[in-house]
Amino acid sequence: MEKDKIAYLDYQSAKPVDPEVIEAMKPYMLEKFGNASSLHEVGDWSTEALEASRKTIGNFINAKDPGEEIIFTSGATESNNLALIGYATRTKQKGKHVIISEVEHISIHNIAKYLQKNGFDVSKVPVDFNGTVSLDKLKERIKPGTILISIQYANNEIGTIQPIAEIGKLAREKGIIFHVDAVAAEGQVPIDVQKENIDMLTLSSNDIYGPRGVGVLYVRKGVLLSPIIIGGGQERGLRSGTEDVAGIVGMAKAVEITKQKMDEEITRLQEFRDKIIKTVLEKIPRSHLNGHPVNRLPNNAHFRFDFIEGESMLLSFKEKGIAISTGSACSSKTLEPSHTLISLGLLHEEAHGSLEVTMGRWTTASDIDAFLEALPGIVKRLRDLSPLTKREAC
Ligand code: PMP
Repeated sequence: MEKDKIAYLDYQSAKPVDPEVIEAMKPYMLEKFGNASSLHEVGDWSTEALEASRKTIGNFINAKDPGEEIIFTSGATESNNLALIGYATRTKQKGKHVIISEVEHISIHNIAKYLQKNGFDVSKVPVDFNGTVSLDKLKERIKPGTILISIQYANNEIGTIQPIAEIGKLAREKGIIFHVDAVAAEGQVPIDVQKENIDMLTLSSNDIYGPRGVGVLYVRKGVLLSPIIIGGGQERGLRSGTEDVAGIVGMAKAVEITKQKMDEEITRLQEFRDKIIKTVLEKIPRSHLNGHPVNRLPNNAHFRFDFIEGESMLLSFKEKGIAISTGSACSSKTLEPSHTLISLGLLHEEAHGSLEVTMGRWTTASDIDAFLEALPGIVKRLRDLSPLTKREAC
């Protein structure tokens, strides 16, 4: 199907790059292509662009000293690796206990497994039925030797926003370093690393309509890490490898555009989201909202439907030119139900009946209408075919 005819409702998995970002990147691939480590003028252009980008991105999250605190990486997965492995390795003399939440992105879960294999002790904080981390349960897990807490700003599947400022306050009082994976939240929720007592923060470029392959780890001045990529010593020795200046300039441009458009985009997407949630819950019997009813990302509506499987829904939507998801793209090729949905207390069959709608900068009212018009027929047809269907549900 032609791209223009597809209603794209899977912004959490991938976003298009803003055309203005591509324009900003072009000179850094064609004319200003120098290596930021070179001492000649062409190198200077890259160094200047790199430092200006650090400032733009640092200011976006209210970093105190962007020049020192913004580390460029290849993306969110690498930033998460640098934060957790880099800090745990550097700090292991002080303690070996790390806390994450049950609903972290798969990258954090797998890094935690790696740490466990390497002699660290990892605790996972459970969440309530809405996906919110409980402060009391977090407090219970803190013990002598706890060096790091890593909790996401918002969940990339169900959209629940965590009480980050409260967790940050607790971590600071206890002298524990606090890392936040802000990938799902960036551009949708204002982030202030100083006010929220965040010591390390992961950002990704594509999640704000910048190019893929670029990310940031904010590291508060004074927090010491061991590098996980060793080489020429770029990025204050924390992330060796020649910087992708064009990509970084693209991310900084994406931040500038996001800053300008954020308020308007939040209002617009929230209206779409609320319309979708209201209509689906009213029109489709035995449908349920996953995630927090209020503290949720403006662009996220996540449902489960009794008696049917998300995958079969996706295929039916695909036939109708609607691109949608059942959850995290990172684990969509496994048959396992989403660990996030299981953490909410859902049964496997309930988790398998889920559908995630995520919207973004180019979502239109007609995309939303296409989804809402197609859904009742798809649900009815699949329920008619499903051996699980109870008569009253149809
Ligand atoms: N953290 C979160 C919350 C994510 O949603 C993702 C995936 N977009 C990542 C980390 C990893 O991002 P990437 O695959 O771009 O490295």
